[in-house]
Amino acid sequence: MKCPFCGGEMKQGVLRCESRTAPKWINGGEKPGFFGGGRVIRNTRISYPVAELGGFICERCGKAVIDVKL
Ligand SMILES: [Zn+2]
Repeated sequence: MKCPFCGGEMKQGVLRCESRTAPKWINGGEKPGFFGGGRVIRNTRISYPVAELGGFICERCGKAVIDVKL
């Protein structure tokens, strides 16, 4: 996949983090509520304590394109 920002070649992989819950997307300017706000990214593969999201990364400009289903 070509990077939509710099045109470099992107590498496919997963964004992996250790978490008890799926990561959330929080829109810019949104204030976190009592439960932290945001929307759960539903297509996260969780195998506690590891959560993974598939996508692509460009090592040239540091941008990532992540598959997200809210
Ligand atoms: Zn790039």
